Amino acid sequence: MKDKGKLIIFSAPSGSGKSTLVNFLLEQGFSFGFSISATSRPPRGNERHGVEYFFFTPEEFRAKIAADEFIEYEEVYPGRFYGTLKSQVDEQLKQQNLLFDVDVAGGRNLKEHYKENALFIFVQAPSIDELRMRLTKRGDTAPEEIEKRIAKAEYEMTFAQYADKVIVNDNLDKAKHELLETVNAFLAI
Ligand code: ADP
Ligand code: 5GP
Repeated sequence: MKDKGKLIIFSAPSGSGKSTLVNFLLEQGFSFGFSISATSRPPRGNERHGVEYFFFTPEEFRAKIAADEFIEYEEVYPGRFYGTLKSQVDEQLKQQNLLFDVDVAGGRNLKEHYKENALFIFVQAPSIDELRMRLTKRGDTAPEEIEKRIAKAEYEMTFAQYADKVIVNDNLDKAKHELLETVNAFLAI
């Protein structure tokens, strides 16, 4: 079936509107699965092994790196590894198309690996000032943490050049429309 086994990868600086747009896409009735990544961070709240993530100790994670079990992995925060397991993705791709939410370097590497089978979407806020305003307004992130994310955002923006599609999320309705057009065109190939 032509729709099976495709990847849609989302990456964005924090606060750009990635979750808002991914949730919108999920509400449109596409049958996407979510790729389950591995991480060395501990579970938060009700997160369960094998559902949100596969949770490993840093030692277990390093052993998997050494055994070449990852398509890509990154140390997204100091001491916190995240990665896409080859066996997991191949198994999930047999069943359905998959959405990925990975950091910008992971997005670039997944795109390089899966080439035309993958659509790499980069969500961008219209400006750094707007990004700061949205993170502040969202109200769930401490001011020092916001400044850290802003500093990182400037570096992350440099990865937009590797994306198949950059969605500048200034007007949300316009961004949703662009997203739908891009995804429909990709799935029609
Ligand atoms: P991310 O997942 O990229 O961190 P969110 O989707 O949580 O970002 O969006 C960050 C905040 O900005 C949220 O409060 C969201 O409601 C708001 N937001 C998203 N898109 C827009 C937009 N186009 N204009 C203004 N605010 C937006
Ligand atoms: P969180 O700890 O909030 O669940 O995720 C933190 C960050 O890790 C997010 O930016 C998310 O996109 C990224 N991430 C999650 N899984 C992966 C993965 O498999 N590979 C990479 N490179 N980044 C990931």
